Amino acid sequence: MLSVRNLFKAYETRSGEPAGGAFDVSFEVARGELFTLLGPSGCGKTTTLRSIAGLETPGSGVIELDGAPLFDGASQVSVPMYERDIGMVFQSYAIWPHMSVFENAAYPLRVQRRNRPSREEVEKRIMRVLEMVGLSKYRARSATQLSGGQQQRLALARALAREPKLLLLDEPLSNLDAQLREQMRAELKRIQSEWGVTTVYVTHDQAEAMAISDRIAVLNQGRLMQVGSAEEIYERPTSEFVAGFIGRTNLFTGKLAAASVDGGYGVVESAIGPVRCWFHTAAPSGAAVKFVTRPENVECVRMGIGHENTFEGKVVSRVYLGDIAEYAIRVGEMDVLVRAHPSVALSPGDATPVYFPADRTIAICE
Ligand code: ADP
Ligand code: MG
Repeated sequence: MLSVRNLFKAYETRSGEPAGGAFDVSFEVARGELFTLLGPSGCGKTTTLRSIAGLETPGSGVIELDGAPLFDGASQVSVPMYERDIGMVFQSYAIWPHMSVFENAAYPLRVQRRNRPSREEVEKRIMRVLEMVGLSKYRARSATQLSGGQQQRLALARALAREPKLLLLDEPLSNLDAQLREQMRAELKRIQSEWGVTTVYVTHDQAEAMAISDRIAVLNQGRLMQVGSAEEIYERPTSEFVAGFIGRTNLFTGKLAAASVDGGYGVVESAIGPVRCWFHTAAPSGAAVKFVTRPENVECVRMGIGHENTFEGKVVSRVYLGDIAEYAIRVGEMDVLVRAHPSVALSPGDATPVYFPADRTIAICE
């Protein structure tokens, strides 16, 4: 439905220094999909979204919606913003205070330049979207009498009323308090999938991204690092950045021992000893390799020493968190972070085997 290819948009400071942007960003979004751009502040999420919306003119690249170009740097095509069939909701969702809930949602339809719907059609569509977001009974109310969450849903209704081909949401929940944000993200996901609108969602919050997205694209410093489902990017990160940004991780460095692996498994010589890891792609023998493993995937009870990927460890600290116990376990020179079931009762000073399951110990070759 949406295709973004080799998108470049570089900003400069007044004195001509590079000031960030989006560099060679490419991704495809399927019809009806909720696709999220995730990354730290300043990584180029808004730049990418504004380029799709037509609020920003890229330096080069191609943007296509439903097979038709919105932007093509090479052939100098750039469809004006108001002719792009796109609805948008920003962080500051700009509800018009002097209008009713109904009028807020209806206004964009009333001023639409092309294919302006009839009065009856407007009535019908607005009631449908207000119903969808749970605001139909507030239709006559002044928009200022709505709570934060309701205003956010009104902004969403307003964007959907035009029945756009594409919905762009830029950190739409970040003005809400934590509890409401969690409630709203479930609501937003429900509305998006019931409405079936293809959506590009922007957030810096990894939990939010994981909770609502069909697929996630992780950005860093204007570059797209990895695209995949929440499971794919969490379980099998391809870069140190993604491994560190999404959740917590243990990071090791080493050298690929065995002959080249063809994707699949390979043994890495590291400071703690040889560790069999899962590789995304082939790597030459002797290559410098890092590998990562999540604290909840490290086991410190079941296996005995002598088993593959099992090392002697010594408990440094234990933090009991109710649902989980968090350990730092010294293995060689490394303190390995382990999240275990609270029934695992180890105390500082205890010796324990530490086991890294190979299928959840992921090699990173950057
Ligand atoms: P994000 O939305 O991921 O937080 P942005 O896309 O807004 O990041 O910005 C990416 C980078 O580009 C930042 O370093 C930002 O300072 C810079 N930038 C964004 N817009 C402009 C602009 N209009 N002029 C100069 N620099 C900009
Ligand atoms: Mg932004």
